[in-house]
Order: sequence, then C-alpha cells, then structure tokens
Amino acid sequence: MVQEGRSILLIYTGGTIGMHEDPVKGALKPFDFTKIMQHLPEIRGYGYKIESVSFDPPIDSSDIDTATWIKIAEIIEENYHLFDGFVILHGTDTMAYSASAMSFMLEDLAKPVIFTGAQLPLGALRTDGKENMITSIMIAAAKEYGKPVVPEVCIYFESKLSRGNRTSKVNTEHFNAFQSPNYPYLAKAGVHLVYNREDVRIPGKFPELKVHKNLCTEIAILKLFPGINGAHLDAILGMEGLKGIILETYGAGNAPTGSWFLNRIKKALDRGIIVLDVSQCNIGSVEMGLYETSRKLLNAGVISGYDTTTEAAITKMMVLLGQGLTIAEVKMLLNKSLKGEFTHL
Ligand code: ASP
Repeated sequence: MVQEGRSILLIYTGGTIGMHEDPVKGALKPFDFTKIMQHLPEIRGYGYKIESVSFDPPIDSSDIDTATWIKIAEIIEENYHLFDGFVILHGTDTMAYSASAMSFMLEDLAKPVIFTGAQLPLGALRTDGKENMITSIMIAAAKEYGKPVVPEVCIYFESKLSRGNRTSKVNTEHFNAFQSPNYPYLAKAGVHLVYNREDVRIPGKFPELKVHKNLCTEIAILKLFPGINGAHLDAILGMEGLKGIILETYGAGNAPTGSWFLNRIKKALDRGIIVLDVSQCNIGSVEMGLYETSRKLLNAGVISGYDTTTEAAITKMMVLLGQGLTIAEVKMLLNKSLKGEFTHL
C-alpha cells in the first residue's frame, strides 16, 4: 500500500548497509549517503516525502557510544513534529543496544522509530539492505485512522519487525541476524506486510515526547562462568564510581552459593551498588527463588531482570541512573517493565 504524502526522516549513522570495499586495503568502510539513495531509485516514485540526515563521517556501529545515542535522540527531538516516522540506518553489531537505549531515552514516544541495516552493502548484487530499508520506510509511514500503526522503537530486519528492547543480534553470517526470543514479532513481511497489532504498545492519551539525555556509564556487566574467582569479582566490583552491575547468571538466574561470591555481592549492595540479574540464556526468564542458588541473591537484594535482554538491561540502567533518582527509585523502576522490555506473569 502506498502511503502518499507521508514524511519520513532517514538518519544514516553508518554500518554495512552504506559501506563499500576500500580498493587499497580491501576492508569494508562507509561511503557517503548520497550514494545510498542512488541505490534506491524505486523509492522516489512512491509518494513519500523522504529527507535524510547523515552522520559525518558515518561510523561502524562498533564505535557507537552514549554521545552517539544522544545525537540520534536529539535529531529525533528536533524533527519530531515535522515527520510521521523515523528510520535509522545503523550497523548491525550494536543495533540492539542502540534500539534499546532509544526506547528508554525517548519517553512518551508516539511515532515509529525503526532501526534497520544490512548484512551486505546496498551496492552488492545480493544485498539484503534494499528490502530492509524499503519495508522499514513503509512501516515508519504506516497509519490507521490517522494514528501510527507501530508507535515504538523497533528493529526491522529480514522480514521481521521486533520491539527494539526485546531484540538481540544472533547471527553474523545469515541475513536473519536478529531474534526476539521472548516477545512476539510486531510485523512480518511476506507477500503482505502483516502487523501483529495486539502486541504493539500504544502510547498514553496525550503523549509529549521527553528525551532523557543523561546516561550513566559507571556500570558494568559481570558474566559468570565456572571458574570465575574472587579476583575477577574484585576487579569489576572495585571499579571507581561503580553504580550498578548487570549480573549475567546461569539458567533461571542462578549463581554460585559460596561465601567468596555472595559476600562480595552483599558488600557491593551495601555500598549502594545496584545489581540486576539477567540470564545468559536467550530464551526464558530469570525466576529468582526457584533454586537455592538464586534465592540467596534475592535475599541479598539483587533485583530480577526477568526475561530482559542484556542489551535492554544495560541501557535501561544507564538511563535510570542518569536521572538523578535515589537508589530506591532506580530499583523500583528496574523492577517495572517501562517500555515492554520484560514479561513478568
Ligand atoms: N561492523 C558493521 C557495523 O555494525 C556490521 C554491520 O553493519 O552489519 O557497523
């Protein structure tokens, strides 16, 4: 369906979608955005009003940092009332982090913000970038009864639209690079573009976009592995200024029960460090208290992240800790699904 007259802002940050091979070095490097549009002449005939903003220089998404997220959020904020939707072209490597961050930074968002990219550059014959970009534009422009169909931060990739903060990159090789294992896809694109309207988040009645621009980076991810020792914990928990950690636990949220481990976690909690328990498993949820090994964490004051992805957990913590809230308030909000980032039955 053609969405005549709909206006879309494309924000090109970089990534494989807009890369070309350096003739000298042989490695992929970004090229400028005008060339990207040359690869999509089809789009011009579809009646969309498309404007674009390009990062200069475009960046590989491995170089994305919190300053970049603030830049993306500010571009959306400045243009919020001028466009029906936003498409962000982004490298796949950290796209799930950026989409998660944006979902927490853009408070009361009521328009589509669709991240997409490609495994093969637009200039390559077998590129996946063309379909990804064109369908993302259609989704960002889609309205029903005057309202956007998907007023959320999403990732569109290889025929599937997923909630950004539910998504992880799972494949370096296949076009099907992203998965949303714990939440249904919000749309699937085959011959028809079919929306799963039931699972889309609908904003409040009179939402007014507010952008959180302070992000706290005094946080860490502590991934457990058999053999992890006290020195490893001390190195992470002893980080200067540390305010919070994402504890990547085993299975349904389990961790070692030895005092060498628990005492260190308890001491960190006593120092006011917030500890959020997420699972190393992609599918399923943390269930603190199910086993003795997680009951001890719960009793010590560790918060359950339920089925939150690590990407969503770390970015949610960055945004919450950046707001000048008390530790009790941050803990309370971590325990709440703010943007549909976890399911707790
Ligand atoms: N290294 C690239 C990036 O994330 C990979 C990609 O775009 O797929 O920017």
